[in-house]
Amino acid sequence: MSFTLNDLPLREDLRGRSPYGAPQLEVPVVLNTNENPHPPSPRLARALADAVAETALGLNRYPDRDALRLREGLAAYLGHGLSAQNVWAANGSNEVLQQILQAFGGPGRTAMGFEPSYSMHPIIARGTGTGWVSVPRRADDFRIDTDAALAAIAEHRPSVVFLTSPNNPTGTALEIADTERILRAAPGVVVVDEAYAEFRREGTPSALTLLDGHPRLIVSRTMSKAFALAGARVGYLAAHPAVVDALQLVRLPYHLSSVTQTVARVALDHADELLGAVADLRAERDDLVAWLRGHGFAVADSDANFVLFGEFEDRTRIWQALLDRQVLIREVGPPGWLRVTVGTAEETAAFREALLAATGR
Ligand code: PMP
Repeated sequence: MSFTLNDLPLREDLRGRSPYGAPQLEVPVVLNTNENPHPPSPRLARALADAVAETALGLNRYPDRDALRLREGLAAYLGHGLSAQNVWAANGSNEVLQQILQAFGGPGRTAMGFEPSYSMHPIIARGTGTGWVSVPRRADDFRIDTDAALAAIAEHRPSVVFLTSPNNPTGTALEIADTERILRAAPGVVVVDEAYAEFRREGTPSALTLLDGHPRLIVSRTMSKAFALAGARVGYLAAHPAVVDALQLVRLPYHLSSVTQTVARVALDHADELLGAVADLRAERDDLVAWLRGHGFAVADSDANFVLFGEFEDRTRIWQALLDRQVLIREVGPPGWLRVTVGTAEETAAFREALLAATGR
């Protein structure tokens, strides 16, 4: 007898859904999940291992439920006069976002996003029983049409508004003035998902500059991208201390393991080393954008460590042709477009060569 999930008393709104996730394939050039291509140095790996060994001596005890020392370190990293009371941390920014929706969304409430954007936002909304309203970005440059945003906010009165800047998968950054207008109009909390903040181009400010005076603004960040620590699962946010109090109502006790807290703290102590490649990755990104344009591809301006490019009649065929040449990128975003993460110089060179071969340019 075959028994599948359809035979389970699954929630109706989850029936027929597929789990989120890019294919995890073992190929030499992996440019599909916007990771930092540089692993920790052996010296840093040793420092991490030593600190974890120390932590291991106390693993019979629960971790610090409030992760206070880690939050102090994250606040110091962010600057802007923030303290531990302004910061909250969890297992990846995905968990941070989930806690935000648990506290401020939920049944009978609505969250709003400007798509194409990070596809986990609507998935986490669904998981928390929060309604989802999708407002399209402008088709020509993938920017948020602020007037359309304000109209949608007035119509739907969302409890949570997601702004992703730089946006995934388009790389588009949001102007501070637009964020401010949306903040003033939104009746609930406004989350600026800044997972890729460290890769912004010169002159693009962070929403952190708006925290003072905007107690319903939440800026979420992650150690998965610029910090090259995706495997450790550490995300965090900065907000008014009252927001942090609210999240403590929904977080599971001891959600962030002692090992995770230790690894994140040691990583912060070595921030200079871990963030050392960011300048190179930004330069590599700008080169890649110019190269793609030079070869006649359409390319979205990018403030992130990835580039959205197109347009292809059959993007699946191009994606597969690249994979056949051992280069894994992501089939995501508007139809006809593909997204490639900026890797090492060698990886990016392999991508360029494979793309020329795949498209015959
Ligand atoms: N926000 C955005 C915009 C992302 O692209 C990602 C990762 N792809 C995340 C949040 C989640 O990252 P993590 O859970 O690893 O912090």
